[in-house]
Amino acid sequence: MKMKKIALIGCTGSIGRQVAEVVRSHREEFCFTTLVAGSDRAGLDALQREFSPKIACLAADIPSHSALFSDADVAFIASGGFAGLRYTLAAIEEGKTVALANKESLVCGGELVTRAAKKKGVDIVPVDSEHSALFQCLGMKRDAPFKKLILTASGGPFLHYNSQILQNVTAADALRHPTWKMGAKITIDSATLLNKGYEVIEAKWLYGAEFSQIQAVVHPESIVHSLVLFEDGAMLAQLGYPDMKLPIQLALTYPSRLPCCEAVDLAEVGTLHFERLPEEKFPCYGLAIAAGKEGGTAPTLLNGAAEIAVQAFLQGRIGFLKIAETIEGVLSHIPSERADSYGTLSRADARAREEARRLIDG
Ligand code: MG
Repeated sequence: MKMKKIALIGCTGSIGRQVAEVVRSHREEFCFTTLVAGSDRAGLDALQREFSPKIACLAADIPSHSALFSDADVAFIASGGFAGLRYTLAAIEEGKTVALANKESLVCGGELVTRAAKKKGVDIVPVDSEHSALFQCLGMKRDAPFKKLILTASGGPFLHYNSQILQNVTAADALRHPTWKMGAKITIDSATLLNKGYEVIEAKWLYGAEFSQIQAVVHPESIVHSLVLFEDGAMLAQLGYPDMKLPIQLALTYPSRLPCCEAVDLAEVGTLHFERLPEEKFPCYGLAIAAGKEGGTAPTLLNGAAEIAVQAFLQGRIGFLKIAETIEGVLSHIPSERADSYGTLSRADARAREEARRLIDG
């Protein structure tokens, strides 16, 4: 394999640090041409000293989005939130393969991103563990035929709580995820199941699936990362311990594989459980699916509201159930429009945030 040059956006976050770990353990295979961090200057400086990329800067100091990717083979988009979409679109515009860990790029910009990627002949390789699992089950072909995509969900820390208990859970409770170690925003999104709703929308755009072909099922052990059902009734699954390093590395080595993780010891793991997703207790899941079906700017409104509400919850300013209420309020107050450009989405995002702040702060 020839040395792969990576432009990493979001290098100091939870995923970004694990991308650096992968590069560190395969120095002959990978190098960084660009490192962009959100706001962690010290973290960025340390990575810059270690990897000597051509460009290293904070998001606020970017000269031009397209210049970030010009020397790279792969654009690894690991920054969080709506802000990631601009990078994804810029990388596609530059004709680069995109290793996509930023969910919002597809949740908010699915239509724009897939259209642009098709036009430019650009490959989008999933990094989200569920979508990487689907990718592997589909023989690493995003256009392979299937009957159903089955996403697994750990269910988060509150799976069996009733709504009375949910009323009083705190950010600290929600941040204690039973199986996955992740950033704060996505850990809260896992507790509300908003994250699983996002992943259904991601799967729709990545694999050209109808919503009726995508199902989420609770699997508390997080060993089976997702499954594909085929026309003849055969079902394939990908198994592994919960560790993002595997999907991260595979997105960089695909279609090859390199040593990465310890294999699952089946006898040690013992029984694996699956159960129905309790949608009725976690309204964020249904809100995400409904916004995904509505399309246009609806998912962007949903996401903008969620980003503000989750921040307020993390700061202890609102309760857990108020996250869904805020999203629902924003979606009912702002009508969805056609999402024909980044500008339209960006304006919808700003409006959603403003409305969410108004609903939270009164
Ligand atoms: Mg996931």
